Amino acid sequence: MKTINEKTEEISIEEQIKSLARAEGAALVGICSADSIKDKEFSDSNYLLPGAKSVISIGVNMDDEIVRKYLSKEDYLSLCEEEGHLTKDLLRIGEKIKEFLEEKGFKAYRCQVNFNYRNVNTSGKAAIPAIRNLIELINKEKDQTTELTQKDEKSLIFLKKAILPALKNTPMHLVPNFSHRCAAVAAGLGRIGWSGNVITEKYGARVLFNSILTEAELKPDPSMENNPCVNCKLCEKSCQGGLFARDESESVKIADVEETIAKRNNYAYCIAICSGMAGQNKFKEWSTWSPFRFDDIERLPLDDSVVDYVKNMFAKAIEKGGKEAENVLRLVENTFLGRNDKPPEDFRPSCGFCQLVCGPTMQDKKESYKLIIESGCVNE
Ligand code: SF4
Ligand code: SF4
Repeated sequence: MKTINEKTEEISIEEQIKSLARAEGAALVGICSADSIKDKEFSDSNYLLPGAKSVISIGVNMDDEIVRKYLSKEDYLSLCEEEGHLTKDLLRIGEKIKEFLEEKGFKAYRCQVNFNYRNVNTSGKAAIPAIRNLIELINKEKDQTTELTQKDEKSLIFLKKAILPALKNTPMHLVPNFSHRCAAVAAGLGRIGWSGNVITEKYGARVLFNSILTEAELKPDPSMENNPCVNCKLCEKSCQGGLFARDESESVKIADVEETIAKRNNYAYCIAICSGMAGQNKFKEWSTWSPFRFDDIERLPLDDSVVDYVKNMFAKAIEKGGKEAENVLRLVENTFLGRNDKPPEDFRPSCGFCQLVCGPTMQDKKESYKLIIESGCVNE
């Protein structure tokens, strides 16, 4: 009779990894070869683990009821906490897989879940205390009950000159350290939908992913044959920013999978809205969770001047002080420090509707869209 250890040896390393991931709480797990996705800068594993041979993609799904309450504006904080906890889960599960591979003698690297970019100079984080200081002085200046000292006034002039022009140079094209979407598609967990999000068979787009890179040569899973995206385009109709063109498409190729997705307008349209700097753009009957609005225009410019407009929004928000300035400070912190190490309750999405509207069934998508357009506007 075989011992338990001998029986374990018969189970392939791929199955052991998948069992471990599921036991730790992953809803989805798959494997792809690192080479299959190395053609794109943001999915080339060599950047994080030179010589990586395989990528393990893991996914966790969001609670549909929590999403519904977020979309209908019944409950904001539950989704913030849900995303925060799921991010921590992905880090923890990824760490377990990394440790398992290292115990087997293979190098492995557990990625961060999001908000880590290749083209962000992290030395810029030194500016964070200065921005915080500037916001405090601006708030003090606006407060009728206090007066700025001479020292405060000098500091305020200095900080405005140093920080506001730099904010107008905010980069609009951030390259992630690693694209979890590419890994998830190549590993057969889903396909790219019209919105550009990964759509899975069981959960729609309501999934968050992480990736573990390893030098172990693992047997890859096949990519998913049929794309679960039903082309309903409710994602496009739920986008206040106006990132997606309704009828024009473009192609993307990930590993052996060719996808047709909505043509993207300038990414600045999403940055303005998803960052929470404004809660309305295309549609006036409803808003995202952001209470802020544009000052001087009804909608974002429809040409490439949108980039400069959005860059200026960062500086303007700081000059306003209060909650708008705090929102920009949080964005700057997320960009330079990442958000993976923050407490779960510190996650503060304001949109994400293109992803969240895309529930597991067509009925769910339709109901979710109805919730969004009937949810009204958030005001300060
Ligand atoms: S909302 Fe509809 S069109 Fe958009 S990704 Fe989901 S299924 Fe595809
Ligand atoms: S997150 Fe919001 S603003 Fe950005 S693309 Fe999706 S729906 Fe549009």
